Parts: sequence; C-alpha cells; structure tokens
Amino acid sequence: MKPTVVREKEELRRFCNEARAQGKLVGFVPTMGALHEGHLSLMREAKRAGADFVVVSIFVNPMQFGANEDLDRYPRTFEADLEACEREGVSLVFAPTNESMYGPNFESHVEVESLTLPLEGVHRPGHFRGVTTIVAKLFNLLGPCLAVFGKKDLQQALIIERMVADLDMPVEIILAPTAREADGLALSSRNRYLSAEERERGLSISRGLRAAYDAFHQGERDVARLSALVREAIEPHADSIDYAAVVHKASLTADGDNADDLVGIVAARFGNTRLIDNCIFAEDRRP
Ligand code: AMP
Repeated sequence: MKPTVVREKEELRRFCNEARAQGKLVGFVPTMGALHEGHLSLMREAKRAGADFVVVSIFVNPMQFGANEDLDRYPRTFEADLEACEREGVSLVFAPTNESMYGPNFESHVEVESLTLPLEGVHRPGHFRGVTTIVAKLFNLLGPCLAVFGKKDLQQALIIERMVADLDMPVEIILAPTAREADGLALSSRNRYLSAEERERGLSISRGLRAAYDAFHQGERDVARLSALVREAIEPHADSIDYAAVVHKASLTADGDNADDLVGIVAARFGNTRLIDNCIFAEDRRP
C-alpha cells in the first residue's frame, strides 16, 4: 500500500493520534530524502523493534546547513523515495514545507553542549543546533514510541541520545549500523556526486578505519598511534581533511578513562563532496 503523504504538521499530528488510538506503535525515521539502502535499513529496524506505524520524514532542514554548504544542491528524489517507502511498508511520509516548520516568528532552539563542540562542531558551527531543534519538533509532532538513527552520523546519534536523556523525551532511540557498499564505502546521499576517480580515492576512508580497527583488535589502545593509522591512509588521497582521528566515544575527544571505548572518525573532501564515516572499534563490524 502507498504511504499517506502529509505536508502539514497539524495533519501529521492527527494521523499519529489516530494510529495510537488504534493501538498502533508509532516508529519514526527522520531523513533528508534521496533515500538509499542505509535509510531503508533504519525503516526495517523500526519494524523489527515493534513499530507497526512507521513514519518517515523527508525534509532538507535549512536550519542545519551553513551559509556555504550544499543546501541548494542537496539531492531531491521524492518520487523514488515514496516508492522505496512503499516497498518497506512505511505508513506515512511527512514532507513539510520550510514555511510549515518555521513560522515567521520562529525563535526557539534546542541545544546540546559539549558533545556538539568537537569534530563536526568545529567545521559546521550551528549544524547540530539545527538538527536537535528539528528532531525535537518532529518528536513533539509525532509522539513516536521509538525513533531510529544511523551510526553513520555517529556524533549526531550520540547528541540525540543526550538530548532525549537530558530533556526526558518519552521516546526510545535505536541506533542502526552503517550500511556500506561491498568495497567498504559508507552509503550516503552525497555519494552520487563522486566521479569514479573521486569514489576510488574516497575508499581511503574505510581503508583507514579498517587499519585502525585491525590494530585495535590486535590490542593497540594508543589513541595517537591509532589516529595516525586513520590519517595516513587518507591523507595522500583526500583533497582536504576536516578531521581523521581516533577519539573516546563518551567525549568524542582524545580524553577519556575507558581505553576500550574508542572510535575512528573522519570527515574529508573528495572533489566538492564531503564524506563522513566512523567505526566504533569494540562494537561495529569491520568497515
Ligand atoms: P540523512 O538523510 O543523511 O539525514 O540521514 C537520515 C538517517 O539515515 C540518519 O539517521 C543517518 O544516520 C541515517 N543514515 C545515512 N546513511 C546511512 C548508512 N549508510 N547506514 C545507516 N544509516 C544511515
């Protein structure tokens, strides 16, 4: 069955209330569209966790893009996205307009503090404030029982978990593993911009994470040495590197008490395309 497409937030609230009144469990997968297998795996995860009314939002949220970022050229493939949602048995697709989400007098934000400062926070100031604000708004509109986020955007996922815990939001957050191509490249809506040559160079990211993963599993716990493995694999191939490091998962910095709690994390540019990826060494599959 085709998912119901809703554009207005009042209507979204009505559909979700109705679903709950029928005893359904509302599961939520927020996206910016241009859906790929990674997004679809989140929808399946929502169902596996018991959701029988899965809502997917498709909204390229202007608040989370900086002035010099790719808001205008972000891929938009709505018809194909709808078909993919139908195949996954999604009940409702929420695709609001900017005006519907941000009225003329809009001036309230949700902000998480220390976790938003390193890594993406350095290179995309204001980005996570845009993310937490829209996610909080969407949670308020849907009232989902559970929401699924990808570990592909690890810093974002950890920030959402922090927000939900700190503000006592009544929703269970589920983190889903990163879907990759067979050769290791993490799936991303932005991969379509890579030329064949850039894509080949982009594989240095998963290669670097893999090298550090292997060293970690052979017992290496020195953050500087693990970081060097990631960085040295990528440096010769990337046009620029925003960060390529190993950090503690709890702080997303080099500081931490738990030597096993390490994450390799990268943002680098290949041509005009910025790719991000990461691996939680103790927990994730080999990238
Ligand atoms: P986006 O549309 O890029 O904002 O992503 C929407 C959701 O899909 C986020 O929770 C992402 O972390 C998740 N996601 C994006 N790419 C992947 C991937 N390769 N594997 C798993 N989840 C992903």
